[in-house]
Amino acid sequence: MTEFDLIARHFSRPAPSARLGVGDDAALLKPTPGMELAVSTDTLLSGRHFLPDTDPRRLGRKCLAVNLSDLAAMGALPRWALLALTLPEADADWLAAFAEGFYAQADEHGVGLVGGDTTRGPLSITVTILGEVEAGRALTRHGARPGDDIWVSGELGGAALGLCHLRGEVELGPAAPECLARLHDPVPRIALGRALLGVASAALDVSDGLLGDLGHILERSGVGARAEFAALPLAAPLRDLPELAAPCGLAGGDDYELCFTAPPERREAVLAAGRGVGVAVTRIGAITQAPGLAVVDGRGRLVDIGARPYDHFG
Ligand code: ADP
Ligand code: MG
Repeated sequence: MTEFDLIARHFSRPAPSARLGVGDDAALLKPTPGMELAVSTDTLLSGRHFLPDTDPRRLGRKCLAVNLSDLAAMGALPRWALLALTLPEADADWLAAFAEGFYAQADEHGVGLVGGDTTRGPLSITVTILGEVEAGRALTRHGARPGDDIWVSGELGGAALGLCHLRGEVELGPAAPECLARLHDPVPRIALGRALLGVASAALDVSDGLLGDLGHILERSGVGARAEFAALPLAAPLRDLPELAAPCGLAGGDDYELCFTAPPERREAVLAAGRGVGVAVTRIGAITQAPGLAVVDGRGRLVDIGARPYDHFG
């Protein structure tokens, strides 16, 4: 199979949303008038983000999901994607399964695959995603103000707990499938991001653990925060595993929930946004003028996190 056979066979489904898709030197895309493009890229590296023998169908779904999650955090609507694949070999079965997973996720979110690159080397998957958001209205990390509430969607720590289970550090029993699903097949919160436009003052997606990710909002907004540990919407199995609650719920990555801020007078609007899209939203604390992030227990004492967010160069 040549490089061009490979592309023609696995990655050339028509993308009706593009004027010109896979097959030319560049794709031609026509943005909707009045919309801004939101563009983001993310790499999944074998041995770093996933094990080399991971089910390719799952990988296909996940490499797009993590990029969709970035668009969700901006309140953008996904439109197009590019896929840069580095493969150790052209394994037709692997590629067919990977493409099936990728296109299934793409179809679920109305995304057209419009181009990419294919090279030989250690397995690495880079997706670039393009979405659209009403001009001037995107959610960003820099809009949090002192007094704003801090909110989190869904549940935290499930994916990290699933990883602990895979590593044999904990035996989850009947709770394992759900945590593994969180790890392998995250659900990007696109509809929630859209519903939070004009409601949230800042937002991001929780990919590296709440602690580090909320820290990015604080830094970009020039503020601090106080969060209540007891208010965190921890994944259910963590309630019976107190020693893992902080490392998984605060520092564990891969949940792809949204963390966002909004002024207290918009509490009803935030809850309505969550209800409207069927996603739980939980208030976990407040933005402060004083810098730094304090996570406190019921008595106001600082919670010892005992873990740091993941840093590729840390
Ligand atoms: P060029 O040499 O002009 O950069 P390539 O030979 O790399 O183009 O790719 C040929 C066409 O196939 C281009 O339209 C490119 O966007 C597309 N393409 C290459 N690899 C992929 C892939 N993995 N998924 C989708 N499209 C791809
Ligand atoms: Mg070319």
